[in-house]
Amino acid sequence: MHRIRFWRSLKLRLFIIIFIVGMIPSLIIYQSILKSYEDRAVKVRTVDVQNQLTILANHLITYNYLIDPSSNVVNAELNLLSNLYSGRVMVINNRLKIVKDTYGISEGRTMVSEEVVRCLKGSSISNYDRVNGYIELTVPITETISSVGATEDLPEGTVVYRGALLASTSTDTIMTTIQIMRKRAQVIEIIVIILLFALAIVLARVLVKPFDRISKQIEAVKSGTSDGPLAVRDYLETQHIVSSFNSLFEKMQKVDESRREFVSNVSHELKTPLTSAKILADSLNTDSEVPVEVYKEFMSDITQEIEREDKIINSLLELVKLDKDASKLNISTVDINELTEIILKRLRPIARKNEIELTLVSLRDVVAEVDEVKLSLVLSNLIENAIKYNSPGKTATITVDADHQYFTVEVSDTGQGIPEDELDSVFERFYRGDKSHSTNIGGTGLGLSIAKSAVLLHKGTITVKSKPGEGSTFTVRIPIKAKL
Ligand code: ADP
Repeated sequence: MHRIRFWRSLKLRLFIIIFIVGMIPSLIIYQSILKSYEDRAVKVRTVDVQNQLTILANHLITYNYLIDPSSNVVNAELNLLSNLYSGRVMVINNRLKIVKDTYGISEGRTMVSEEVVRCLKGSSISNYDRVNGYIELTVPITETISSVGATEDLPEGTVVYRGALLASTSTDTIMTTIQIMRKRAQVIEIIVIILLFALAIVLARVLVKPFDRISKQIEAVKSGTSDGPLAVRDYLETQHIVSSFNSLFEKMQKVDESRREFVSNVSHELKTPLTSAKILADSLNTDSEVPVEVYKEFMSDITQEIEREDKIINSLLELVKLDKDASKLNISTVDINELTEIILKRLRPIARKNEIELTLVSLRDVVAEVDEVKLSLVLSNLIENAIKYNSPGKTATITVDADHQYFTVEVSDTGQGIPEDELDSVFERFYRGDKSHSTNIGGTGLGLSIAKSAVLLHKGTITVKSKPGEGSTFTVRIPIKAKL
């Protein structure tokens, strides 16, 4: 487990990449310099020996060496050449007989080798045997017929191949030089490796540092020594992480704040009806001579307060129910126009009290597969808000429409509207708009989040458009056929 984590370290990976990327070119350069030196040295040696052999071949003809190999001058030249290049030279005549061998071991023998046969036809050949460390060369011994020796068969100027010179030269000196060069290159290579190692460590650390800084700052936020936001700008990538973290953190702070606000809101909302009911009950208890009418009126007020308390508790329970995964939809085929009409009928008395004119516009007859209770909750909440956050004499219009896949219910009011910066927040749980009006109007900040949860369960969407002072429009869009 520990080993796997070690391999997943970005620092380690960067180190390996930098190290390898640095090593490859230096190894290639090291190898190619040695190789090209070797090629060049072998070529120079081959050309040198070939030139010497060509000169020697001319002398062999001049001294008629192929017929009488006793010429001291030529023998001295042959020995000099073989000593100079620490090799062996053989003179072979055109009957493939070895006339002279500077090693003195093969004279008189016949040389049957492809190179020699080809050489007798005029081609110079050279072979480099890397494994055994020598170069083998053949040079033809040619004679150009002069006017004196010209016959009918061999007219003047004819080139005749009289034999071949076969030489082998050791490449030990080249190899020794290469060995020395290799040793030096190895020292340089070791220095390069050490430098690269250090550079890779430093670079890997520097490159990963911004990520370390992010973890440190997150750790500080976690332990409470810092309350954000993070500030690490080095890379685009770290900037992305930082801005994602900051927005998540901001969201969490908001949620936390909303939660705190919710607790105080709910406690307040739950306390208000209780306090009113207690005051009413106390005044009835302390006054012994209460007329029956006053008694009845107080009792009905107490009932109203209890109903309000009940409503708040029910909203909370509703929200908890929608929250649970177990909250399955109870799908049935529902006439949406009729359902809206029923809800409007229920809410009309409140609208009348608030002097709001409620209108239903049915652009299409819609029958959809929905959970009737949950959809009623959605529409009631939206229409209640359209009445609540409106001013007397204004209107609220509910429009039912559909296309071939979705139906929409639009709840539009001409009320106070919602400021643009609050539009994103209205669906958040426990969110209540501008505190002054919300406190006067009364509510828990749960209505729209309940509506949103219910719409999402139907795989639908709920959106809002609003202009402060002009009104708001909430649109619910739900598939006609339930997608479960
Ligand atoms: P509540 O109405 O209990 O406060 P909601 O979740 O229903 O909670 O609404 C959240 C907030 O959104 C309200 O406090 C209000 O500020 C704003 N809001 C909702 N509907 C409207 C509307 N039709 N017009 C203006 N503001 C609205």
